[in-house]
Amino acid sequence: MSEDCIFCKIVAGEIPCKKIYEGNDILAFHDIHPVAPVHFMIIPKEHIASLADAHVRHEELLGRILLLAPILAKEQGLDDGFRTIINTGRGGGQEVFHLHVHVIGGNGPRPM
Ligand code: 5GP
Ligand code: ZN
Repeated sequence: MSEDCIFCKIVAGEIPCKKIYEGNDILAFHDIHPVAPVHFMIIPKEHIASLADAHVRHEELLGRILLLAPILAKEQGLDDGFRTIINTGRGGGQEVFHLHVHVIGGNGPRPM
């Protein structure tokens, strides 16, 4: 756990969230400022600051996070598809430095 990390505090239950999935090492919850009708994120419970800080030992964990995206997207009603976004580093627009995969949908098709 990183002391000043918002998502670590969410994992620890110190900050509330609208949880949609919890496993042993993965948590998914709705974004506090959704940019679409459905907008949630999937995070590892372990504090990994960004994708650039992930290591080979996280390979299986990252794979399970990605495989969870379509399952949770469908549960949230996204039958027609969804976007996944991982912002990495300041230059990548990352604001919360705890690795997270955004899952966004319900706005219809949208160009990159
Ligand atoms: P980033 O720009 O780092 O990829 O995205 C960070 C996201 O975290 C933003 O979409 C922001 O709305 C969301 N966020 C920031 N603080 C909180 C919080 O306390 N709770 C929840 N559920 N989402 C948050
Ligand atoms: Zn953290």
